[in-house]
Order: sequence, then C-alpha cells, then structure tokens
Amino acid sequence: MHLAIGQIWQETNTLNPVATTRADFESMGVLRGADVLREMRGVNELGGALAEIETWPNPVQLSGLVRLPAWPSGLISRETCDWIVGEVFTAVERLDAVDGVLLALHGAMAADGCPDVEGAVLTGVRERIGEGVPLVASLDLHALVTPAMVAAADALVLYHCAPHIDVFETGGRAARVLRRILAGAQPVTAYQRVPCVLPPENADTQAEEGASPGFKRSLIDLETAPSILSAGIATVQPWMDIPDLGSAVIVVTDGDEATAADECRRLADSLWRQRESYLPELIDIEPAVRAAHQTPGLVVLSDAADATTSGAAGDSVWLLEEILKYDWDRGALVTLVAPELVAAAQCGGCGAEMDVELGGRRDNRFGKTITGRVTVERLFESQFVLNGHIGKNMPIDMGGSAVLRMGTVAIVATTLSGPHFAPELFQAAGFDPFNADLLVAKSPCGFRAVYQNHAAAMYSVRAPGCAPSDFWNYQFQQRPQPLWPWESIDDFAPAPQLFSRARHLS
Ligand SMILES: [Zn+2]
Repeated sequence: MHLAIGQIWQETNTLNPVATTRADFESMGVLRGADVLREMRGVNELGGALAEIETWPNPVQLSGLVRLPAWPSGLISRETCDWIVGEVFTAVERLDAVDGVLLALHGAMAADGCPDVEGAVLTGVRERIGEGVPLVASLDLHALVTPAMVAAADALVLYHCAPHIDVFETGGRAARVLRRILAGAQPVTAYQRVPCVLPPENADTQAEEGASPGFKRSLIDLETAPSILSAGIATVQPWMDIPDLGSAVIVVTDGDEATAADECRRLADSLWRQRESYLPELIDIEPAVRAAHQTPGLVVLSDAADATTSGAAGDSVWLLEEILKYDWDRGALVTLVAPELVAAAQCGGCGAEMDVELGGRRDNRFGKTITGRVTVERLFESQFVLNGHIGKNMPIDMGGSAVLRMGTVAIVATTLSGPHFAPELFQAAGFDPFNADLLVAKSPCGFRAVYQNHAAAMYSVRAPGCAPSDFWNYQFQQRPQPLWPWESIDDFAPAPQLFSRARHLS
C-alpha cells in the first residue's frame, strides 16, 4: 500500500489589499518530500492523518508531496498560484504508482485569475493519478466548496468545530475515509449550495445553545452511521468577493444515493431556516471601550474586522485610538502587524522614544492612521507553538517583534501576520493576557475557546476593516445575486446534486 499526502493551506480575503505572494508561503514553511512526513508529525491535519495511518494493521509506504502554507491574507497573485499548482502537480508526477492520495486543504483560496484554487488543484491531481486512485481532501468549515472540488475528489472531510479545535482529528477522519474507500467503499457525494453567507460570531459550535452546536452534533451523529463516510456544512469565508460565493452542504455515503441526498437536503434546509440566528449582536467602538473600562476583570474586545485569522491586514487602529483615551489599571493589550515599526524599534533599541504613525499602512482601504509617541519597552521574537483554535502543535513565527508603550496601553507589534488573538503571542511579549484589563483579539469567534473561562465579558465590536462582521453593508462587485443577507430570498428549496466516483472503482 502506497499513499501520498500533502497540504496547501491559506484562507483568502479578497477585501484585503495586501496580496498573498510566494514569500508568504516560504516564510511560513514550505516542505517537500520526506520533510513533509517528518516535520508534520503530530501537527495539524497531516499530523492527525499520520497518527491514524500508523494504527493500521498493514504497513503503509508513505510519500510526502509538498506542504504550502500561508497565513490568511489578500488575493493570491497569479504567479504565486502558478507556482502552487506547479509544485503540487510536479510532486504528484514524480510519484511511483500510488494507491491513494490525501490532501489537507483549506478550501477558500482565491487567486488573481483563479477564484477556486483548490478546485484547480484537485482537478489537476485527479488528471495525474487517474480515475481509479482514491483522492480524499480535508477542508476548513469556512471552505467555499465548489462542484469542481466535489467532482475531482472521492470524498471531502470538513472540520466539525468552530473554533477549529478539531484540526488534528479532522486529518484522522480523512485518513479513515480514505481507508474505507481503499477497502471497497463506493463514495457518492450529495452536494447542495446554499445561497447564504453567515457571519462567524454566533457560529461557536462549543456554545451551550444555538444552531451551530446542533449542527455539530448532527454531523457527528451522521458520521457514526455505517453507510456514511463524511458529512459537512461549509459556511464559507465571508470576505471573498468572487462569483461562486455561498455556503454548501455535503454528505458522502458508501453507495447510498438516497441517504446522501436526503441527509444533504435536510441539513441544507435546516441551515437555511436558521440563518437569521447567525446575525451577530455588535457594539460600536465607543460604548465597547467604555464598557470595558467600567467592567472589573478582563474584557476581550473582538476586532473581527481586522482579524488576522480572517485574512485582514492586522494593522487597524480604530479601536486603539479609542482605548488610548483611557487609563487602564492592569493594562490594555493591542496588537499590530507593523514591520516598519518593529524595524524602527530594533534600530532605536529598548528604552528609545519614537514619534510614530500607527495603522493604515497595510490596510489602506478601510484603515486609518494615527500618530503618537511610543517607548520601546521590549524587543522579542514572536515564536511559539499554537494549540487550540486552528493549531495542534503548530509552529508559529511572526518574526522580530516589539512592545511599544503608550501610557497604560501596550502595543504588541509583529513583523508578520499570524494568530493575533493567541495568548501565546502576548506571553511571548512578556504579558499575562488573562490578567489585563482589556485585550483586543483580532478574531471573530476562534478566540472564545481560550478566553471564555478567563474573561469577565467579551464583545464583538463593529469597526471598519477587511473582515467586517456586517459584511453585507459592504460593496461586493463579483458575488452572485441574490445572496443572503445582502438580499432576501423567499424561495430556496434544496435539491442536492449527486456525484459518484463508484464507476471508476469497479
Ligand atoms: Zn475557518
């Protein structure tokens, strides 16, 4: 048995003017061949897949293809997209005869001239391995699942959880699905596009109540049924202005077309009926900061519009400007992606005072710039291992970083974008994030997993940015119409499309 595994991972935000380039992938850590197997052991989806495959009774020969990860950011440049597909296709072409291929993908990568990167990758891999070789891909639940992706893969396996605390487990589930197909399962996928885009704020699958925890339970229940290989609801990355934008439901069964279609229709109908419950309660900047100041204990303000986990630029100062108006007994912590400020701080050294411009440099669409005098309090490297939302033993390196002090506010500035919500980032900067008065999490929902047991209050703030919570108030030029919540739609009736690869395996 010879299997090949690889990963392409990025979530694209087309509202962010900062393009994603090859350098972004290379700085996060490109791996090829045997290095994929060695370095990804225990890490994220590929780690989960490798751990699962190790439990199989018969020995498996594994080949690493390539791992191409970049932190969520703006549209992928055309040449970077060409390089990505070239890397994957070359790695597949070099393989000796292979019995199955497993790819860990995000599912919402968009490039200049190619709005469905994963569709192009899966289609090209299928062409190279032939119709008879099983191809399974794992996806984020914020994937934009397209018919091209479904047609090319035997099965797609999605995260069940948001915050994404099941990244590793999803890799294991994908490997188990591949094993079942190798053992003779005949995958049939029912696919239903749902014409809505849902904000992530209320999509917390770990919440005590709400639509999302119910959907998570339904999906897990479905996957325990012997005839079902995989079930997923992809509520899509909202900030993609592309023609196919929308949510999707997939159910993959072992040859059971009726069950696949019925369950897919049921989930799509249920998602549609509960769409209003996803609309978040947002609080404006001024009352949010005032409430934080009046609340004893830690208050976390979610600046979703600048969420680096949603592909925003990470240099918004809309909240910072208001936070600077107050004194904070135990301090306020705000992050910025600001390579030029880090470089200036490194040049000046600890203790240096500098007059600086903050914000609006990366996000020059929705951002603003403020000026102020900062003291360089600390220089450090933003290097840590991320566990929890998005990561399982995931190495993070946001490069040289600096703590810039403005009164009782500490600005944690990094060279590169990354998880600008993670307590590990604030800890690397020398702070106890759970003991601050105020912390700005540049994350719409994922931050809840780690802060909910520490925070006295958490608010979702309405601010301008590339990943706004109220995205339907922003102009999208290329999205399909009608699409809820931009437009109301009265007559959606799911009718799943069936895709079968069984004929290729007989
Ligand atoms: Zn996601």
